[in-house]
Amino acid sequence: TTRRLTGFKPTGHLHLGNLLGALRPLLAVQGTTDSIALIADLHAMTLEHDPERVRALTLEQATVMLAAGVDPERTPIVVQSHVPEHTELHYLLECVTGFGEAARMIQFKEKSAGGGHVRLSLLTYPVLMAADILLHDVVQVPVGEDQNQHLELARTIATRFNSRYGPTFTVPEGVRPEAAARVMDLAEPTTKMGKSTGSGRIALLDPPDVVRRTIGRAVTDELAEVRRDPEKQPGVTNLIDILAACTGREPADTHSYGALKREVTDAVEALLAPIRARHAELAADPGHVRKILAEGAARVRPRASATVRRTRTALGLLN
Ligand code: ATP
Ligand code: MG
Repeated sequence: TTRRLTGFKPTGHLHLGNLLGALRPLLAVQGTTDSIALIADLHAMTLEHDPERVRALTLEQATVMLAAGVDPERTPIVVQSHVPEHTELHYLLECVTGFGEAARMIQFKEKSAGGGHVRLSLLTYPVLMAADILLHDVVQVPVGEDQNQHLELARTIATRFNSRYGPTFTVPEGVRPEAAARVMDLAEPTTKMGKSTGSGRIALLDPPDVVRRTIGRAVTDELAEVRRDPEKQPGVTNLIDILAACTGREPADTHSYGALKREVTDAVEALLAPIRARHAELAADPGHVRKILAEGAARVRPRASATVRRTRTALGLLN
């Protein structure tokens, strides 16, 4: 089987974009692909953060993943910081990465622009991401456009290491997850829905009235025409795409935005109601979720420590 890694940063509440773009594709291959769901808490510290919030969100994200149908027997849910080999490999990979290579990353340039205090970990973020991937011999990494450059760097690091110090790493490939969707912000439909950006977000745990209100307020246009046109009608297109991703259906009424929004609301609600209910059950027993996380870390650790050992030996460390 092919190993696949999907990462989530505990920077905010999981939202509809995370579900349709990352969680559902993961569930779709759960029986056939050896996946790891990584909660990348160390990555959540590359920008200003609130310690208690990151801790709470880590547990919440794990709980939501289970509620959405991630089966920990088939897909270990791993908290990045619970497997210290991530940080160990990160350092070793820093020794084969150029300062210029990291400084060139578009995301680093964007997030460090505007001055202020820039954490050094923001610069080395893509090296930690490379470590996340290479540590587990991951073959497939589902990536959105924003992560393409980081995945390319991971491939460069792996290839360079292998040719300089001998075959050590599997060189990963980026894949477009099947049935993926890119969900846009409902208030600003030209930017993607994000955990830490925008105001038109539907969190997976939002109560029904909040979901209804957020979709009701979604930005549309004056054209009164329900059709896909990402350029001229980004808001309407986003609603059509969300409906299609949730139900596989096209809108019934092609002129009323009100009817479109009601249809989208029903479709999203049908998707979220069972997750919400299951989440409430699971959240009542956080000890159980923590146990699942401990088991996830324990499951992947033997392979992780084998990778680190290989890397240490190749680099000339005395094992
Ligand atoms: P942040 O704003 O902190 O970057 P995020 O919402 O982008 O948060 P990530 O933790 O970066 O979430 O990504 C988790 C997964 O969800 C990734 O696989 C990412 O590609 C996917 N994802 C994030 N936002 C969307 C979206 N709007 N539509 C589809 N997939 C998304
Ligand atoms: Mg993101």
